[in-house]
Amino acid sequence: MGRLVVVSNRIADPRQTAAGGLAVALAEVLNSTGGMWFGWSGKIVDATESDDVVFKRAGPVTLATVDLSQVDHDAFYLGYSNGVLWPVFHYRLDLADFDAGYITGYRRVNQLFARKLLPLLRPDDILWVHDYHLIPLAAELRALGCRQRIGFFLHIPLPPPLMLAAIPGHDWLIRALFAYDLVGFQSKADLDHFARYVETEAHAQPVDDGRWRAFGRTVQAGAFPIGIDVQEFNELARAPEAVEMYERMRMEYSRRKLLVGVDRLDYSKGLPQRMRAFREFLTKNPDLRSSATLIQIASPSRENVGAYTEILHELESLCGSINGNFGELDWMPVRYIHRTVARARLPGLYRASRVALVTPLRDGMNLVAKEFLAAQNEEDPGVLVLSRFAGAAEQLREALLVNPYDTEGTAAAILLALQMPLEERRNRHRALMETIRRYDVHWWCDGFLVALERTMAEEKGTSWL
Ligand code: ADP
Repeated sequence: MGRLVVVSNRIADPRQTAAGGLAVALAEVLNSTGGMWFGWSGKIVDATESDDVVFKRAGPVTLATVDLSQVDHDAFYLGYSNGVLWPVFHYRLDLADFDAGYITGYRRVNQLFARKLLPLLRPDDILWVHDYHLIPLAAELRALGCRQRIGFFLHIPLPPPLMLAAIPGHDWLIRALFAYDLVGFQSKADLDHFARYVETEAHAQPVDDGRWRAFGRTVQAGAFPIGIDVQEFNELARAPEAVEMYERMRMEYSRRKLLVGVDRLDYSKGLPQRMRAFREFLTKNPDLRSSATLIQIASPSRENVGAYTEILHELESLCGSINGNFGELDWMPVRYIHRTVARARLPGLYRASRVALVTPLRDGMNLVAKEFLAAQNEEDPGVLVLSRFAGAAEQLREALLVNPYDTEGTAAAILLALQMPLEERRNRHRALMETIRRYDVHWWCDGFLVALERTMAEEKGTSWL
């Protein structure tokens, strides 16, 4: 394989374990090919400052970054990426802000990335572009003459065709996907939405297995559900910080069962719905009330986007009223923490919890679900309550699957999870672990890159321009 060049909006230093499974998996391939990771530096600079690429070495890997001006950042990142694509792709048309200036900024930054990246490329490089911020990057690179193979992976869901069609310029966006050699989605449902979109809106026909032809071009598309690094997570779980966290939680909650939720504070995560379901559970089961506590960790996220302030207030108010109405002098039903928990401590928290509530309204995959499973004690495992609208639900069939909009149904699942006999917990957990071990982050990474290389063999010599 040629040198791998990863492109994403934010880059992570792959030597830092806090970076997480994705960075670790990509780092392995990047290390073995002496690759490069290109992206935004995270810095916002004055528009008059130089926009040179800054290089940093991380072992054999080169980290290459560019700064963004305030205007570009606002339109590209806050505006189009997180004010249009994020809500619409998560089925929230009502939250989208289709300001015409955003798409211009989005295009400008993708052009900037293309212009800065192109001179750094070698002829046999393989490019792997990540996520919704960079959908048109390959098209911009092609326009500048780039001939290398380029793959794209969408980490978030792709909505059904009619919802996509609500985005002004949606045809431009999907057409841009055809500049890639391979497009990967998280789930079969997302792939199906892509297929239906190109068939109905672009009158494309499937060419053969997994290939579509439209806009005069052919693209390969597939579902590549992302996994976690189970081994890395197990090691993290055995390290002192996680063990200490586990022991502290067990001591503090020795008489109670813990339910846990760990999310970014995002409207896609279904946090108010989860709280309402927990309230319903408390209302319906007065005898069980003081035997369970829900710890909800919600880390601050995108606080300068309006919809996020609203969800924050709604969640705070629900937690307050649940505690006010159901709390006792020596017990509070909800512990809500608006902070990030250090990654090294997370496995301890997961392991000390009997139940995980992973109930997004829509989610590309949801890695918390997989991390919770990987952290469990196999002899006495906890139970995963999982939204059927998380990409992970396509794989994790032995979890307790719920409809997060159905308050009563979710409350019933919470009861079931808290009372599930040991034998059933073990059986479900064994089956779930088999899945997350087999389809781990290395399987995902290798699978995508092998598929991308195969398209190379098939399409060598094809002219894009
Ligand atoms: P998303 O990418 O939408 O945030 P995922 O569940 O796929 O959702 O991935 C979230 C990642 O971030 C997981 O690795 C999880 O451990 C971590 N994470 C999420 N919320 C928190 C939090 N409050 N504190 C610490 N880590 C968190």
